[in-house]
Amino acid sequence: MITASHAARLSLPGPDWRTLWREAITDAGELLALLGLEQLADALPADDAGFGLRVPRGFVARMRHSDARDPLLLQVLPQLAETQRAPGFSMDAVDDLAARSAKGVLHKYQGRALLIASGSCAVNCRYCFRRHFPYGDEMAAAGQWRDALEHVRQDASISELILSGGDPLALATGKLEELGRGLLKIPHVTRLRIHTRLPVVLPERIDAPFVEWLKALPLQKVVVLHANHANEFDPGVDEACARLREAGASLLNQAVLLKGINDDADTLIALSERMFVAGVLPYYLHQLDRVQGAAHFEVTDTHARSLIERMRSRLPGYLVPKLVREVGGDPSKRPI
Ligand SMILES: *Cc1c(COP(=O)(O)O)cnc(C)c1O
Ligand code: SF4
Repeated sequence: MITASHAARLSLPGPDWRTLWREAITDAGELLALLGLEQLADALPADDAGFGLRVPRGFVARMRHSDARDPLLLQVLPQLAETQRAPGFSMDAVDDLAARSAKGVLHKYQGRALLIASGSCAVNCRYCFRRHFPYGDEMAAAGQWRDALEHVRQDASISELILSGGDPLALATGKLEELGRGLLKIPHVTRLRIHTRLPVVLPERIDAPFVEWLKALPLQKVVVLHANHANEFDPGVDEACARLREAGASLLNQAVLLKGINDDADTLIALSERMFVAGVLPYYLHQLDRVQGAAHFEVTDTHARSLIERMRSRLPGYLVPKLVREVGGDPSKRPI
């Protein structure tokens, strides 16, 4: 029998990623039944405040059966704790709304501009700032990327364009081609960076047309993945990473430090070692953005520092991420 991950490794045409995207699980009852955790249904919040459960089936397949503390499940399952107000946790935790430069463009740091390329993701991560962002008015891809490209063209200090979101690989490859053509007319842009969780949660997105586009694009390319736990990797993810590297992209990962999910040294060490098997280097370990509904995931700075110290004592330097927090108004991420 050929399983989905076998098919990926053999590069047989598997199901189209858009089909897998549409077939993602959005019903918490269905997810819990699949995992043999029906008894948790009573503890679900009655109201998801417009940010419902959403998780691709391939990601669910990496969760442990009948384990209510599974670290992948905890990233996606709505919890009652989300509905509690916590002081200091706000709707716009990192002052994004103050940093807008043009439609969907956030230009906070010297040399690089970030585009909110898309408002959708294949997965809804419970700790995400995205649950409150007003994407409706803020999409850089609108109108053939016109406003965004114009902003970048007029500022010669921008050498790197970062596609973020949401997930920029939620866009059709044709839409990315459109951006690529525009970027090539701007000589001061030499690097394209893509911040995406799709190679991890829906690796089928890294399909042949996308890889061909990326490979042919005459810019330096960086793909920053987002994985928080070693269990998120499987042979399908390894294959997606291999294809990205074949297309000429450097691969980095940013993780978020999450209480009950990856806030111990063994787990973080296993994550670094597992991502390196896939050809990915750790980049940032983020202290949580303090968004409403995410307070129960927060880890203290003292504990976070001790985790990094333990990683440093047990790993080569290149497998230790930089521990940072995003602070509105700062000229870069702030080291902790
Ligand atoms: C995080 C972020 C970046 C990227 O910062 P690096 O330190 O280069 O990874 C760029 N722009 C904005 C608005 C950001 O939030
Ligand atoms: S993939 Fe990233 S942007 Fe999308 S919900 Fe998860 S953390 Fe948020």
